Amino acid sequence: HLLLMDLKSLIRDVPDFPKPGIVFRDITTLLRDPDGLKHAIDSFTQKFFHAGINADYIVGMESRGFIFGPPLAYQMGAGFIPVRKPGKLPSAVYCIEYELEYGTDCLEIHQDALHPGSKVLIVDDLIATGGTANATARLVKKSGCDVVGFGFIIELQNFQGRKNLPNVPIITLVEYL
Ligand code: IMP
Repeated sequence: HLLLMDLKSLIRDVPDFPKPGIVFRDITTLLRDPDGLKHAIDSFTQKFFHAGINADYIVGMESRGFIFGPPLAYQMGAGFIPVRKPGKLPSAVYCIEYELEYGTDCLEIHQDALHPGSKVLIVDDLIATGGTANATARLVKKSGCDVVGFGFIIELQNFQGRKNLPNVPIITLVEYL
């Protein structure tokens, strides 16, 4: 079994992307590693199990939530539901606006994707400010469902994103200050 330390060593730091001064944490180098990929999904699954989290659906946001959400849903016996940028989903949607550094953006979910009363786990590759995850949680509530937990491969702790999320278990695998 790989140690959690090794998971971090599989994440590539890309300086000055997408703009100068930003260090982008790149998970494609983790994904391409067979042991790393297996370890990431397996420890995610285990941690949720130990936190007593049982979900009917995993909701993952565009686009890296689409990578980690489905294998986790498969392991947990849950369904997967995509949350997308505006104009991508073909049927009727709920839309939520959220704040960006400059201006606002929107996220959408199919109105009939979640059955009201379902238990939902929200998954993405990374949490920084928590703005994206918070907007997704609001979409889940708008659908009449409960968020029972969050999962992120990476947590950028400086941004204190946890403060922006509802009081449910938040599982992360690799942390940066
Ligand atoms: P937040 O909304 O500020 O928490 O930012 C999280 C969102 O931005 C997630 O959807 C991430 O995929 C993306 N993101 C921000 N910084 C990085 C990074 O360094 N690597 C990969 N994704 C990032």
